[in-house]
Amino acid sequence: AQKKSALDTPKTTVKFKQIGGQERAKKELMEALDFLIHKDALKEYGIRPLKGILLTGPPGTGKTLMAKAAANYTNSAFVAASGSQFVEMYVGVGAQRIRDLFKEAKQKAEKNNQDSAIIFIDEIDVLGGKREGNQHREYDQTLNQLLTEMDGITTSENPRILMIAATNRVDMLDDALLRPGRFDRQIVVDLPDMKARKQILEIHVKNKPLADDVDIEAIARDTFNFSGAQLESVTNEAAIYAFREKSKVITQRHFAQAIDKVMMGEQTDRESTA
Ligand code: ATP
Repeated sequence: AQKKSALDTPKTTVKFKQIGGQERAKKELMEALDFLIHKDALKEYGIRPLKGILLTGPPGTGKTLMAKAAANYTNSAFVAASGSQFVEMYVGVGAQRIRDLFKEAKQKAEKNNQDSAIIFIDEIDVLGGKREGNQHREYDQTLNQLLTEMDGITTSENPRILMIAATNRVDMLDDALLRPGRFDRQIVVDLPDMKARKQILEIHVKNKPLADDVDIEAIARDTFNFSGAQLESVTNEAAIYAFREKSKVITQRHFAQAIDKVMMGEQTDRESTA
């Protein structure tokens, strides 16, 4: 299949208010982003420009959503890649992909008349894991290219580039990535607590026909340790159960079945990978 260019991805429409919970993470991220919006303040106060933000936390907690909301909030072009896309057999291919990613970000911002671009790399640990002695040369080149590109980011440059990366293995990252001027700001995106689960569920039932007996608070209580992605699945599965029964509305029972299903799914996933 032909490689889809990041230039083809539409502008992101995700807003911070569509992300349930994560109050602290959202606040920290918005504060960091304010320097992208108020560029003059950097000069005025002599503040070093922020080049990289690292979002850490378990899978499915909304890290990708946060990066997209960041692009929307700052009216930045958004390009995304996953660390695994840079792992290649042939020397130089990964490094070239990094160069292309930065080029695409700039082109996209220019095309859309935007002053800044956000480059999001999910699973950064795959390409930026700790380098230990006898590792593959190709892998080193890719990481080095990323570091070189990041070091080249300046405030005067137009568009301004900000990197956002996500990982659930921050302990695995090469120290070079975490140095000042690289990914030196870390924001924890953790599993939602009860109140946050309720908010996330509310976001995802908004467009669904609910029966009067549906008790979102009870569902939030029964979904301890669920991620945002799993909560989204619960609302979707509940709707599917209702549809199959030709029920006009989704009832509390459908939600109970959906919770079981999502929980079971997790278990089978774990067993099959064990
Ligand atoms: P991964 O580490 O597995 O890539 P992630 O942390 O990037 O996961 P997202 O891709 O942002 O997670 O979330 C997946 C989906 O789960 C979202 O598209 C959304 O439907 C739902 N979701 C996750 N977290 C939240 C949240 N805090 N509020 C609302 N929806 C959420």
